[in-house]
Amino acid sequence: MRVLIIEDDPAIAANLYDFLEARGHAVDAAGDGVTGLHLAVTGRFDAIVLDVGLPGLDGMTLCRRLREDAHNDTPVLVLTARDTLQDKLEGFARGADDYLVKPFALKEVEARLTALHKRRAGRVADRELSVGELVFDPKRVTVRIRGREVRLPPKCVRLLETLMSQPDRVFSRKELETAVWGEEQDTSDTLRSHMHVLRRELQRAGGYDPIKTIHGIGYRIEARGEA
Ligand code: CA
Repeated sequence: MRVLIIEDDPAIAANLYDFLEARGHAVDAAGDGVTGLHLAVTGRFDAIVLDVGLPGLDGMTLCRRLREDAHNDTPVLVLTARDTLQDKLEGFARGADDYLVKPFALKEVEARLTALHKRRAGRVADRELSVGELVFDPKRVTVRIRGREVRLPPKCVRLLETLMSQPDRVFSRKELETAVWGEEQDTSDTLRSHMHVLRRELQRAGGYDPIKTIHGIGYRIEARGEA
């Protein structure tokens, strides 16, 4: 990962810098808020470690300006010395993604940054979705299973895309109907018939059906795929 550290305490900054660099990350650092914001906006970072108490521009203001003025969505892990609920709430309201209270373990910082980075990668629009041997390409709106293209009606594609967005998560019928048709359907037949077509075509093209029925609740797609 490319990580930006914005921290004015030289000892903490050096500790973070050395640890993350030794772990193979590309690290940059700023000792005040103005420099930090400038680097955050002009550089391309996968994650930012941000101290709350900074000279020039405090961490919370920096975070808000990063989000609201620069429209930058780089994940931000806030470091705070004050373990009060109010600080945490304030941090999240201004666009921070996670926080750690000082003193913290360096390994914990890396774990949080990695988690934030992954979460962000997961919500990047237009990315290809891949679950087992099933691939959905949102740009071309195509579905492939085991390399073979699956021809599906648009509503079935939308249904599959919704399930694939969160593998293994159980989606209720209501959630799926809302995602595909924009509202709950009067009868459960609509969803059932589309689900039937979807599963039949996946089976036909790929030789297996990754969708599981959760009786009385809804459906989920198996993340593991089929052997
Ligand atoms: Ca500080």
